[in-house]
Amino acid sequence: MSKAYSYYQDQLRTLADLEGAIAGLSWDKEVIMPSKGHPYRSRQIATLAGMAHELKTDPKLVATIDELYQQRADLSEAEAANVLRSWEDQRRSLKLDKDFVMRQSQAISQGYEAWLKAREQNDFSLFEPALATLVALKREEAERIGYEEHPYDALLEEYEPGMTCAQLDPIFAGVREHLTPFAAKVRAAESPDDGFLVGSFDWQKQWDFGLQLLREMGYDFEAGRQDTSPHPFTINISPGDVRVTTVVDTQDFQTMTWSCLHEGGHALYEQGLPADDYGLPRSRAASLGIHESQSRLWENHVGRSRDYWQYYYPVLQSIFPDQLQDISLDAFYRAINKVQPGLIRTQADELHYHFHVLIRYELEKGLVEGSLNTSELKEAWNEAYERYLGVEVPDDRQGVLQDIHWAHGSIGYFPTYSLGSFYAAQFYAQAQQEIPDLQENIRKGDSSALLSWLRKKVHQHGRQYLAPELCRRITGEPLSYEPFREYVERKYGTLYGF
Ligand code: ZN
Repeated sequence: MSKAYSYYQDQLRTLADLEGAIAGLSWDKEVIMPSKGHPYRSRQIATLAGMAHELKTDPKLVATIDELYQQRADLSEAEAANVLRSWEDQRRSLKLDKDFVMRQSQAISQGYEAWLKAREQNDFSLFEPALATLVALKREEAERIGYEEHPYDALLEEYEPGMTCAQLDPIFAGVREHLTPFAAKVRAAESPDDGFLVGSFDWQKQWDFGLQLLREMGYDFEAGRQDTSPHPFTINISPGDVRVTTVVDTQDFQTMTWSCLHEGGHALYEQGLPADDYGLPRSRAASLGIHESQSRLWENHVGRSRDYWQYYYPVLQSIFPDQLQDISLDAFYRAINKVQPGLIRTQADELHYHFHVLIRYELEKGLVEGSLNTSELKEAWNEAYERYLGVEVPDDRQGVLQDIHWAHGSIGYFPTYSLGSFYAAQFYAQAQQEIPDLQENIRKGDSSALLSWLRKKVHQHGRQYLAPELCRRITGEPLSYEPFREYVERKYGTLYGF
């Protein structure tokens, strides 16, 4: 290993130490910290984040990454991949000078304040001026970063490197042209009864069942733990400590079950990243979209399948006999896959979810290219909800003010949520082709072959490849809407008999 590479590796590992410490403090803050700890904890995290920023922008490290990038032909394949990813990140951040970063972070804190106030008063007009400033800064950011075709591409790069509007447009065209009439057809069919899913479900019994699901999907409890928090999340403190949280609702066991499978999918990915490259890009997730593909694959393709519940439903029935003993597996399967259009993205089912994202993608693109003004945003939002979901938006809080992303200056983030589902469908279809007896094993409660396949195809590569290349390597094809289309047609066609 060259001297320069070993310096680079040491610095990135120190950075990862700081990030891990921040993650540990954040977990503590969300899960067990007493309330009086808050002001100090915010300071502690800010202090460590400041140190991490210093380290990241240290001129010697910047110069070393540049030097290694020039000489990457002399490095091993894994080393060269690390350096390339670090150089790409660095090139992006160097294009945004200190003055711009400060203007943006000021606009974000004002935007967040304005958004909180606007939500409280249920009035978008209180947020609109701050949003206009944030959008102008995003447009400036896109110009500074540079792009080939569309300014939105420069913003996407922050969350999903390698993804562009040219790749996203045909995928969202699939949502618009196929999923719109398909979801309407499902809505028109007779809705299953899911009343038995709400009732009284003992806290401890649910909790134990969630741990069983996590353990049996392959989550390593010696390298993680589960706790409860107001919103479920997964956090990576180190390669040997990847934690998940859940919410247990004693009226409805679904919240806990799907969050265990969803966060479990995220955590299996983090636990499977190559620890030998700790701190370096190869030990990190490929992108937000790939991360979300791992959670959606376990939550939907495995966890909402009839095969999975063929094994687990009798287990669940034995835990909650009073609530479920008279309910058949088919009735249960139909109920857990009930679809219903709604106003709120985070509560959407696996079909309608993508309309929520499509709407945000179209609006963001319009704002960034200048064809849509923030003063027209609310009307455009309400009109799109009527068009795609057939729902009338009653107020701003349940409409254009529902997500925090724009207030945080995150534009280009939303598409990664849908990408997660589309990558998941494409990967799962490939897994079904390559793993003999995959569904049969799942019917017996054994998903170990699936986990080994994901380890080999996705997890072990970390960020060695950008997401579009990873997808081609796994499936031989670029990302497409088609596997998702086939998946929903097969599943919902069977469920509703068309
Ligand atoms: Zn997720």
